[in-house]
Amino acid sequence: MTDSALRYSESRQPDDKPDSLSGRLALVTGSTSGIGLAVARALARQGSRLILHGLDSPAQAAALCDQFENTYGRRPDYRLCDLRDPERIERMMADVHARYGALDILVNNAGIQHVSPIAEFPIQAWNDMLAINLSASFHTIRTAVPAMRQRNWGRIINMASISGLRGRAGKSGYNATKHGLIGLTKSVALELAPTAITCNAICPGWVHTPLVQRQIDALAAREGLDAETATQRLLGLRQPSGRFVTVEQIAELVLFFCSPATSEVRGVAWAMDGGTTAQ
Ligand code: NAD
Repeated sequence: MTDSALRYSESRQPDDKPDSLSGRLALVTGSTSGIGLAVARALARQGSRLILHGLDSPAQAAALCDQFENTYGRRPDYRLCDLRDPERIERMMADVHARYGALDILVNNAGIQHVSPIAEFPIQAWNDMLAINLSASFHTIRTAVPAMRQRNWGRIINMASISGLRGRAGKSGYNATKHGLIGLTKSVALELAPTAITCNAICPGWVHTPLVQRQIDALAAREGLDAETATQRLLGLRQPSGRFVTVEQIAELVLFFCSPATSEVRGVAWAMDGGTTAQ
């Protein structure tokens, strides 16, 4: 080992609390439903302090915060913020930093999907997807990193997709944003490689959430199918396992990326997709 490599590992270890996520502060975007909610629950179970985020009003989110408090013994904070607006993201992040100091864990999970042939692709849908699926992560990361650097610990996890690893007709917007998110992940990971802050992406295949249910409903309506047939048709399209990945499985992968075992996993795009990208 070179002198500088030795200095690096020696200087980093005292800051790298190895045992649990107890007390770690986590912001999970898009955590009022689907994958984000499961990730938030898993982090809360491990003792993290949580900031939930979504589009629900604080009054609507209160019931969810009650549920967290009753189950995990700690009330999460909640932030309403439309991620299409960079200024609102900046205000949310400034407020979080003013109130809590550094984030330890940032999970950029919020995302939307629109499927359409390129010539008919609504410009608004393209712009919204770019803003929510890609630019929002740029803004949360750029504003979170300085305080993480001061503490020299952090976990940044971006919810990409197998659509960030391969293309699919009709998904030009989604494919573009998820490929972009993986590029952002790699670049940030390299920039932070000398620190104890990691940045990685997760690439789920089909996971049964409201986002996918909307695609099942659209397929059923388009082709006159019942719900079960539409579900099987969607899975059969590209998931060799023939089963959905579960939100809980994705959440466990997030916990793994927050664990000491993965402190040198940097800039990966880790698929959990029932075999899809192995084909
Ligand atoms: P979901 O629809 O349940 O959750 C999406 C979240 O994003 C919601 O909480 C919503 O409030 C939030 N959101 C949407 N628009 C927003 C906006 N303008 N501002 C702020 N927040 C906004 O969907 P999900 O399936 O749980 O998706 C979560 C992430 O996982 C997304 O990034 C999605 O692309 C990705 N993903 C999902 C699947 C899947 O099969 N479900 C597969 C691959 C990747």
